[in-house]
Amino acid sequence: MAQGDVTLGSLEDIPADLWEECSACHQLLYSREFEAALWVCSKCGYHKRLTVEQRLATVADEGSVQELFADLPLADPLRFPEYHEKLEQARQKTGMDEAVWTGLVSIGGHRVGMGIMDLAFIGGSMGWVVGEKVTLLIERCVEERRGVVMFCASGGARMQESLVALMQMPKTCAAVGQMNQARLPYITVLTDPTYGGVTASFAFLGDVILAEKGAAMGFAGPRVIQITKMKIAPEVQTAEFQYEHGMIDLLVGREQVRDTLVDLLEWLVPHPVDRQSSGSGVSVG
Ligand SMILES: [Zn+2]
Repeated sequence: MAQGDVTLGSLEDIPADLWEECSACHQLLYSREFEAALWVCSKCGYHKRLTVEQRLATVADEGSVQELFADLPLADPLRFPEYHEKLEQARQKTGMDEAVWTGLVSIGGHRVGMGIMDLAFIGGSMGWVVGEKVTLLIERCVEERRGVVMFCASGGARMQESLVALMQMPKTCAAVGQMNQARLPYITVLTDPTYGGVTASFAFLGDVILAEKGAAMGFAGPRVIQITKMKIAPEVQTAEFQYEHGMIDLLVGREQVRDTLVDLLEWLVPHPVDRQSSGSGVSVG
């Protein structure tokens, strides 16, 4: 009997993406199940930080995504040393043009403007391009009378752009003001983590502010606080704490985000521009 006939597969035969490690509890999760659970850990409930593609998969109606304003030039207004190279590297690493994705998306049939920030692009920081894309998106939606849903994730204003980065705060706030004047809904979803100049501008200006469970948030991030040597209890900078203290309207698990947005748009969009009738041909006159 040829005992050596059984061939065991080598480790190299196992696809590398079959399992994923939870970055909070470090348990291994079966990738397909993890994805089906919208990248929420089944062992500890941690909501993984998502890429734009993953975020769109969790909220957008199939085939409804149209990207806008992806063609802005790289901005290096202060010619900050090594910044241009850093931007190029971030573009290559993430496949994104900047730290925010902007476009039009349908959610439960509601056509809205959407912004999604990606932490992987220089910490999701806000420089000129991020501020400009957010502003252009809002202005376009005011023009077309659409609501806007903004998924925030950011370390704050981008240091390499200094004052130019800080100027994006009033600029984006003024754009949100235009939405208010036009009586259009502006909904923000704060995800892990949301800090700094983004917290202090368009993130906390939502007519309704949602936050994903467990998300870290606040004005100064933990590293800045460390520098000041101030002592703040760790739970202060969480979505749960902010919710209990009235800074956030709804604390939601990721599986509830899409349905919550559909409900809110249902209530807040008075004359949905793109909720076309299913072509029944019945005209009311
Ligand atoms: Zn976990």
